[in-house]
Amino acid sequence: MIRPVIRIGQGVDIHPFDASRPLILGGVRISETNGLAGHSDADAVLHAITDAILGAAGAGDIGQYFPSTDERWRNADSRVFIIEARRILDEMEAEITNLDITVIAQQPKLSPHRDAMVASIAQLLDLPEGHVNVKATTTDHLGFIGRGEGICAMAIIAIEVGA
Ligand code: MG
Repeated sequence: MIRPVIRIGQGVDIHPFDASRPLILGGVRISETNGLAGHSDADAVLHAITDAILGAAGAGDIGQYFPSTDERWRNADSRVFIIEARRILDEMEAEITNLDITVIAQQPKLSPHRDAMVASIAQLLDLPEGHVNVKATTTDHLGFIGRGEGICAMAIIAIEVGA
C-alpha cells in the first residue's frame, strides 16, 4: 500500500450565542458575557480544529470521542479535545504542516484577538506560530450569523505522515 505523505482535514463547527456565558475562541477568553451555548465551553474554533485533525488522521469526528451526551464533558475546557487529537497525530507520527482557520461572526470584532488566538492554538499544538493562521469575516448581515444568532468556525489542516 502506498502511504500518502500529505493528508488534509477539514472541520466546521457552529454554536448559537448564549449571553450569560463567557466567549472563548481558540482557547482565548474574549469576553465574560455574550459567549456561546454548548455542552462544553463551546469553543467553536477548537472544535473545528479538533475535527480537522481527526479528518486528516482518518480518525472519525469529535462526537465519537467526546459525545455531548456524556456528563464528563459538560462545561469542559475544549483544550482537552485538542490535546487528545494531538495525541492521535503523535501516535501516527504525523506532523502538522499548516493550519488555517476562518471564523465567521457578525460580532464581536475578532481582529483584535487574532494574535492571541494564533499564539494559543500554536502553543496547544506545540507548533511555530507561523504554522497557524486565523482569519475572521462576517456575512454582511446575511443569515443567522448576520443576525447575530451564532458563530461558525472552519479549519483546514495539512499533516505530513512519515512513510
Ligand atoms: Mg462544537
